[in-house]
Amino acid sequence: MSIKKNLKDIKEKLPKEVTLVAVSKTKPLEDLLAAYDAGQRIFGENKIQEMTQKWEQLPKDIQWHMIGHVQRNKVKYMAEYVSLIHGVDSLKLLKEIDKQAQKHDRIIACLLQIHIAEEETKFGLNLTELGEIIDSEEFRSLKNIEVVGLMGMATFTTNDVQIRKEFKNLKSIFDKMTKPLPNLSVLSMGMSGDHTIAIEEGSTMVRIGSSIFGARNYS
Ligand SMILES: *Cc1c(COP(=O)(O)O)cnc(C)c1O
Repeated sequence: MSIKKNLKDIKEKLPKEVTLVAVSKTKPLEDLLAAYDAGQRIFGENKIQEMTQKWEQLPKDIQWHMIGHVQRNKVKYMAEYVSLIHGVDSLKLLKEIDKQAQKHDRIIACLLQIHIAEEETKFGLNLTELGEIIDSEEFRSLKNIEVVGLMGMATFTTNDVQIRKEFKNLKSIFDKMTKPLPNLSVLSMGMSGDHTIAIEEGSTMVRIGSSIFGARNYS
């Protein structure tokens, strides 16, 4: 099994308009370089420290996406270079990203993470919280962040009917939000196991790890 072959197989099946984020968390630099050599330029990580180490060591034309839960006190470490933050789920976090982005004189693109799964454990905003953020004066005053889309994770289940229902729900929220947030263009949903359903339901960005790099070893 090779990373290049896996990447090619996945890309062949992806519609052209769907962006592939190669989720490289826990994987060594050589694995990322194999994907890079095969043309991949967007990588997703879920730990800021690990992502920053990789950013320091790998080619500078890589776009780094933070896909994990973000602790506010660590935003400063990625503010210089991160290209998209997927898991934003509070106004406090948006304010911190804005503040750190300002220090680097840049605008950081963000996705608001919406809670669509049945599990209690997944992060994300409910509709009320989403409404409160986008209606607030404070949100509209932030000049160094741009909310460009939404992100969500379906329940971890083999029940395709349920997964589809959750992705449909996120897509309908996305469609409603394009009115108050006209810059919305990214709908980040779908991972190795469920990206086919996610794309059928309107995903524009899939986050795929194990199908490219193989299973992760957490030690
Ligand atoms: C790890 C992770 C992925 C990739 O998962 P795979 O099942 O390995 O494709 C996608 N999204 C998020 C938020 C993740 O943490």
